[in-house]
Parts: sequence; C-alpha cells; structure tokens
Amino acid sequence: MIDEVVLSCFWAPKSYTKEDCIEISCHGSMLIQRKIISLLIQHGARLARPGEFTQRAFLNGRFNLLQAEAVADIIASESDAQLKLALHQLKGGVSGKLKMMRTQLLDLTSLLELELDFAEEDVEFADRDQLVQTTRDILKEVRQLGDTFQYGNAIKSGIGVAIVGPPNVGKSTLLNNLLEDDKAIVSDIAGTTRDVIEDSMIIDGILFRFIDTAGIRETDDHIEALGIKRSKQMIEKSQIVIVLYDHLSEKKFIEEIITEVESFHKSFLLVRNKSDQSSTEIFTDELPISALKHKNIEVLKEKLIALTGTTVTPLAVTVSNVRHYEELRQAAESLERVIENIQNEITLELVAQELRTSIYHIGSITGEVTPDDILGNIFSKFCIGK
Ligand code: GDP
Repeated sequence: MIDEVVLSCFWAPKSYTKEDCIEISCHGSMLIQRKIISLLIQHGARLARPGEFTQRAFLNGRFNLLQAEAVADIIASESDAQLKLALHQLKGGVSGKLKMMRTQLLDLTSLLELELDFAEEDVEFADRDQLVQTTRDILKEVRQLGDTFQYGNAIKSGIGVAIVGPPNVGKSTLLNNLLEDDKAIVSDIAGTTRDVIEDSMIIDGILFRFIDTAGIRETDDHIEALGIKRSKQMIEKSQIVIVLYDHLSEKKFIEEIITEVESFHKSFLLVRNKSDQSSTEIFTDELPISALKHKNIEVLKEKLIALTGTTVTPLAVTVSNVRHYEELRQAAESLERVIENIQNEITLELVAQELRTSIYHIGSITGEVTPDDILGNIFSKFCIGK
C-alpha cells in the first residue's frame, strides 16, 4: 500500500476534456505523489504534455481556440483586471463578435462563388455597391476590435509607467518608495541611474509596470547618452509618464520634457518631489510629494488609477492576445483589398480570394478554419444541390 486515496470519476462528455477522466486525490506528500505516478506509468500510463488537457478539450469541441488560450491567461493572471479579462474571454467574449463577422463574410463569399459558378450566364447576384458597403461595415468592426488590443494588452502585461525628469530629483527614491524595496540604486551623484529598471505592482487590482529611467538631459557622457536614448524609448513604450522634478529644477527644462512627452501623445502627471525641503510651486497643476518622507504617495497612486480610466477605456469586447491582434490586422488588410478590387473592377476570382483570406484569418482566431465551410454555406443557403 502507498496511500489511501479518493478516486473521482468524470464520465464522458461530462469532464474538462469531454473524455472519461479519473482524478486521484492523495495525501499531500511529494513522495506519495511520485510513487503513485510511477505506479501508473509502470502500468502503461504516460505523463501529460504541457497544455495537453486543454488541447484535448479544444479538439473535442469543449471550447474554441480563443477560450483555450483564455485558460492559459487565467493561469497566468496576476491582477484582478487580468483575471477578469481572461474569464470574459473564456465565457465567449470576443468569440461571439468574431462568429458574426465570419458569418457575414461567408455570406458575401457565397454570393460571389455563386456568381462565378454561373459566369457564362452573365448574371450579377451581388450588387457591387452593396458588396462594398457590407465589406466596409465589417472592416470597421474588425478595426474596432483590433483597436481594443492596446487596452487588452495593457491589462495583460501591465500599464507601463515611466518616471522621467532631470538627474537627482529623486526618481529612484520614488520608484523604491512605490515598490517598497531597493531595486534601484539611489545616489547623490547626478546620473547614476544608468540602466532602465523595471518592476511591477498592483494598485486597486490593476497591474502597473514602473520604469525608472536615466534623466533626460544633454550630455557628453556616452553611457549616460545611451540612458537618455532609452528614456525616450521608455516614454514611447509606456502609457503613463510621471514627470518628476524638484524646487531646484529649471522650469524651462521641465517644459522641454513635457513637450517631449506630449510629442509621444502620452498621459502624464506633473510631480514635484522633495516637498519636505521646499513648498515653492513650479506649475499650478503639479502634485507635491516627498519620496523620501513618504508624503502624498497615496495621492499619486490614486492619480495613476484615475489616469488609467481615461487613457485606456475598458470595453465589453477586448482583444488581449498578440496572435489574435495579428490575425485581425491581416483580416483588415484583406478586406481593404476586397474593397479596392471591387472598385477597380478586378476579376471576381480575386475578390473572392481576398474574402476567403479574411475569413481564414478571422476563423483562425477561434480555430474553426475549414475551407469546406464556404461550400457548406452555399448549399445550406441556396439549396443548389448538384
Ligand atoms: P534620481 O537621480 O532622480 O534617481 O534621484 P535619486 O533617487 O538618486 O535621489 C537623489 C537624492 O535626492 C538622494 O540623496 C535622495 O535621498 C534625495 N531625495 C529623494 N527624494 C527626496 C525627498 O523627497 N526629499 C529629500 N529631502 N530628499 C530626497
């Protein structure tokens, strides 16, 4: 005897994979677990491959590819917002919308295929203007869905917050304070924060990635110059920028930084540090804090949350996966070519081919790509059985 266990039987199709399944609950010792597993292997079982259960569930039609991917996202969730997004995707989320688009595209293609079949008879089944209009409508929806990616991705990988400002104003201190550990090197010598340091934290269920960057300033020092180049890259990569300075900072110089940040179209917060040393205001809409004395840090966090609401608007249907975004982008490209081809009166074969390409891309998101669908759709809708 190895252990006394409980066996739970899930008979097909009422299991996760829709196959017969038995779960063994044993006592928590790793040794017992290993012994049970080797016993099973001795009797002909094998270990599951990574993701095999979810893959089987997908292949057995338990859910679509999109939902299978959501399972992976649920497992990887670190924040409430991430989990919410993944759960929404598991429940169907984008799938319904994609399915609708796909049906519309299949209908269009069916019409064109029909016209191609009856080419010698010179009948026009599909009104060209109507075709262009319908394609435009679908294209708009594909694009809108693609646009939600920025938000979805921000939730999934965290909202990037860059802290920029002149050297020695307390950027590393603020970052440490926010992260409450000693990740960044704090020093009195200007320009010591040479590498971009990144760490994340969850505020109010939203994941933020804080990025500490070298001070933006003109410099001859080569290493420091690299840091500045990265600062600009970090501004580009972040969604929110904290412009940090102190009472000694030159207003003109801060304004230059703001111009830089604005040129990237980023939301930003004006934060004056070292308020424990001086209360001299530089900008009227600034937030005075003291990173060292932990003053107003909570207010800063609240402001970050508030900015998140305005920079990234949560939508009911959100794309958060790069693969899905990529497929949507390609579907949109094909649809653009469909419109172009119809307008330039390019042969119907090419128009139909582009339509099929767009269906392929949308279908591959949910994993239901089957060229037979088009045929099936023709027969089911038009009842032309040959
Ligand atoms: P960075 O170059 O912008 O990253 O600046 P650091 O974080 O390295 O800080 C530079 C110096 O300013 C350090 O000596 C910090 O202790 C000090 N410092 C940072 N924040 C405050 C603050 O709120 N008040 C005071 N008095 N000193 C601060």
